[in-house]
Amino acid sequence: MAQPDLAIRGARILDGSGAPAFEGDVSVRGARIEAVGALPGGAAARREIDARGRVLAPGFVDVHTHDDGALLAHPGMEFKLSQGVTSVVVGNCGFSAAPVLGGVPGATAIRFGPAADRRDTAAYRAAVDAARPAVNAVALVGHNSLRSQVLGAAERAPTAAELAAMRGEVERALEQGACGFSTGLVYTPGRYARTEEVVELARPLAARGALYATHMRNEGDLLLDSIEETLRIGREAGCAVHVSHHKAAGLRNFGKVGESLARIDRANAEGMDVTLDVYPYTASSGPMAEYFRLERLDLELAAVTRLASCPDFREWEGRGLTEIAAELGVSLEAVTRRILSSPRARETICIQFIMDEGDVEANLRHPRAMVGSDGIPDLRGRPHPRLFGTCPRVLARYVRERGVLSLPEAVRRMTSLSCERFGLAGRGRVAPGAFADLVLFDPEVVADAATYEEPKRESRGIACVIVNGAVALEDGRHTGAGAGRALRYRAEPEEERP
Ligand SMILES: [Zn+2]
Repeated sequence: MAQPDLAIRGARILDGSGAPAFEGDVSVRGARIEAVGALPGGAAARREIDARGRVLAPGFVDVHTHDDGALLAHPGMEFKLSQGVTSVVVGNCGFSAAPVLGGVPGATAIRFGPAADRRDTAAYRAAVDAARPAVNAVALVGHNSLRSQVLGAAERAPTAAELAAMRGEVERALEQGACGFSTGLVYTPGRYARTEEVVELARPLAARGALYATHMRNEGDLLLDSIEETLRIGREAGCAVHVSHHKAAGLRNFGKVGESLARIDRANAEGMDVTLDVYPYTASSGPMAEYFRLERLDLELAAVTRLASCPDFREWEGRGLTEIAAELGVSLEAVTRRILSSPRARETICIQFIMDEGDVEANLRHPRAMVGSDGIPDLRGRPHPRLFGTCPRVLARYVRERGVLSLPEAVRRMTSLSCERFGLAGRGRVAPGAFADLVLFDPEVVADAATYEEPKRESRGIACVIVNGAVALEDGRHTGAGAGRALRYRAEPEEERP
């Protein structure tokens, strides 16, 4: 038998299934795992990695990202790779980079980076492949992006023709490899859509077994109503449902995640197919203009808000609105208004401390919960630390320190479960024939280093990350291998790169 390209020796292997670790070797040939266990022949590989004392797992999948533009603008994807992430799902919360119809991109709250042909999902996938990103990606097609291009900012139901146009785009995206359809019903213009519109647009999903992924209409006082709306959409469209960043927002809603999960469990028991994702933090983050109305400012929310990216007031990035107000000797309301009325207010990203730790843990305990960072890759400001820290934080804080879930289970939820759900074919397992997306880490050391104050620190304890057989990160050094692929839902890449 010819020499393998790479051999990883003496690792504690977590294969992604949730089974306990076993000690063994793994060999890699080309983009795939060749053998697992005792390697045949014993001949040295072209490249040997001594993995003793470390855990080898499938590369992590970040199922909730806004990396659509980052894959093109920052193909090194250091903020993901350094977490052991080897694949990302883009197009979340109703915002997708493709399609761009008629050459006029829709006005959306998420920016999509450099100019590229994004006329449809196929063109976007080609642009991602051409950028040679460090990690793989699979895309959802977003409702906000479609609606803003077909209806503009109109606060009304679509006409039959407009609805057909949007539905046609959903179908086309699915044909071209999108893994599902996403909504962000709290955002503009998704908020103008009635449930019936979403049901109609989700109908093409059923035939392909694709997903309806949703940032629900309300994650606070009306969380349970939103869960019911979400389940109704899945039931009427006959499709699988994925609840994005499941949470109960606002002090008076702390603890509601339990009831919300119970409704999801009931739906699954009745034959539906519902999953969710969660990020391991008690603060959310997003475009500030979407959470405040100038005519009715929510000062309770302003009091727990800090700035991540603020192009008009860079000096305030990383600081709380209350703190800024105190320094200026003005009211919280005055500072909030000033930011929201400034010329580039729509580009301001904020962070809001609105969640209960117990709810985060309840989500993480749920067997159908995956991990998704929801990180917003605006690297100029001080982004929410979830952008750099999510997966290692699950392993450090929720596995090692708090024992909320076991290490094999945490790995399953960040690998095989995610790959099955989002259709990353041939990935998410350490098994012969699977794609060699792998992470080698020290289970006693692995931890997030990113904080709200210093959010761009890479994590500790990630020894090596391999993407499609190529070493992408080793001992803190990004190799620039650029071996990531733009994937199609439930399909393996047609040709493998040498
Ligand atoms: Zn969202």
